[in-house]
Amino acid sequence: MGAYDDRPWLSQYPANRRGLTDTDDAVTTILDAFARLTVQGDKPLLHYFDATLTAAEIDVQSDAFAVALQDAGFQPGERAVVYLQNIPQFVIAQLAVWKAGGIVVSANPMYRGKELGEILSDSGAAVLITLRSLYRDVASTIPETGAVRTIVTTSELEYQSRSDATLAGVEAPPCLDTSDMLELISAHRGQVPPRPGIVPGDVAVLTYTSGTTGPPKGAMTTHANLLFSARVYRDWIGIGPDDVILGVAPMFHVTGIVGHSALALLTGAPLILTYRFDAQDTVEAIAAHGATFTVGSITVFIALMNAPNASGEALASLNKIYSGGAPIPPATLAAFEERFGSTIHNIYGLTETTSPAIAVPLGSRAPHDEASGTSAVGVPVFDTVVRVIDDDGAELPAGEPGELLIEGPQVVVGYWDKPEATAEALTPRGLRTGDIGFMNADGWFFLVDRKKDQINASGFKVWPREVEDVLYELPAVREAAVVGVPDAYRGETVKAFVSFRPGQSATREEIVAHAKARLAAYKVPREVEILDDIPKTATGKLLRRQLRDLSATAITTKGSETP
Ligand code: AMP
Repeated sequence: MGAYDDRPWLSQYPANRRGLTDTDDAVTTILDAFARLTVQGDKPLLHYFDATLTAAEIDVQSDAFAVALQDAGFQPGERAVVYLQNIPQFVIAQLAVWKAGGIVVSANPMYRGKELGEILSDSGAAVLITLRSLYRDVASTIPETGAVRTIVTTSELEYQSRSDATLAGVEAPPCLDTSDMLELISAHRGQVPPRPGIVPGDVAVLTYTSGTTGPPKGAMTTHANLLFSARVYRDWIGIGPDDVILGVAPMFHVTGIVGHSALALLTGAPLILTYRFDAQDTVEAIAAHGATFTVGSITVFIALMNAPNASGEALASLNKIYSGGAPIPPATLAAFEERFGSTIHNIYGLTETTSPAIAVPLGSRAPHDEASGTSAVGVPVFDTVVRVIDDDGAELPAGEPGELLIEGPQVVVGYWDKPEATAEALTPRGLRTGDIGFMNADGWFFLVDRKKDQINASGFKVWPREVEDVLYELPAVREAAVVGVPDAYRGETVKAFVSFRPGQSATREEIVAHAKARLAAYKVPREVEILDDIPKTATGKLLRRQLRDLSATAITTKGSETP
């Protein structure tokens, strides 16, 4: 691998000596790989409660849905927003959009109207595929749906027969002004779309992320990015057709798109989906299907430890475990190991690196750094170079912290329709991550801080500016500053500081209620503190770090409350 020539230490890790095992040039996209699975008979590819779908069945249904989309005028290169929970229709819709030559835009089902509207208009999507309940509560309430011509709805109750508390009560009545996904599939069953003319460099998925400035940006993940990252899970980590994938990460997030969906479609390892993450349901699913592998955020593993039905026996099969997206507290790792006998491996990446860039090789133990109090996030996966640079862009030697730059086949090609943001993020030496870390003398990477103004709540990323903009919508608010504060379960949570215009005010409840109506739940401030003035620099820039430090040392807790 050329990328290792100047980094010989990388080859000391067994995973890096292996390289990609699939040398079949005919497989250039996940769609090609999936086509090879359709002959595998009765082997399940998807489990959803008591439902099981084979690759052949998913192929037939995604063909039919692709034809239905094309009949509705969907053209190659057009975008289709998939705004769904972890249900089989996610995978079927994704395949159908690709089969029709289109681009999947993944939208977080927690998004409220403002957030969904921004994605619909920025991506210029022609199609929206969503749950009936989300259509009723969110999509149908937004006045502007951009270029959307076709709305397809579906239900989480489809395919399976469960009707207990997990799914009952979430159902919404059929939506008269939209098409039903399963009806479209049955109307077109047996029809096959013409082979799409997609090439590996075509965009497969847009995943939106907010930023320090400007509107949300859609990271353009190509088919080549997706295939490479799925192969990292298969060939570098070692997940194969005999594994069973537990889908605990949200499917809209790059972790779910790659580490669940693309990995299953590449290897034929069955994928277990359970609608929304629920610890007890997840324990049941692990035991019922013998899940062997998963990747999720550390809060998932904390929740599993607290599930009343979790036992070493129930989780016995699950021994290839990865946690990414947020720091792993060493105490949590030790407690999990003690309780279930298996270890949690760290994996690091961004939406912009199509998930994994650095990971702990399966079966290895990450070294701990006493000085920073952190354990390593891993070593770069194959074909990947990670550089540590200082503020002037100079490369730093081992042991010195700086911003991580990532170069490799998993780095996305840019942001949709945002050449300036693309140029800022993608430098000739790799993607600017905004994360501060260092490499030790053995080539392990450690994360110690963040350069970017981002809050990480259970792996969900919150950009303070987005929350502040919503708080500024309240007429009484003169200044708003949002910071991340430590939280025992989520790692970090959102805290807002506000000051009021002279003679005006609002209650904390009003502030929180406004944020709840406009933002996904994880972005809503858990604490609101009212100040006369918010500390600023001489040039008027809000001193977020000072507010964060003040909160961390609990000097200013009075007046805070949890909604
Ligand atoms: P996202 O784009 O949502 O995947 O978020 C990417 C960000 O999550 C990174 O830039 C890091 O700040 C953080 N992150 C990802 N993986 C890890 C990890 N293993 N440990 C700590 N933080 C992580």
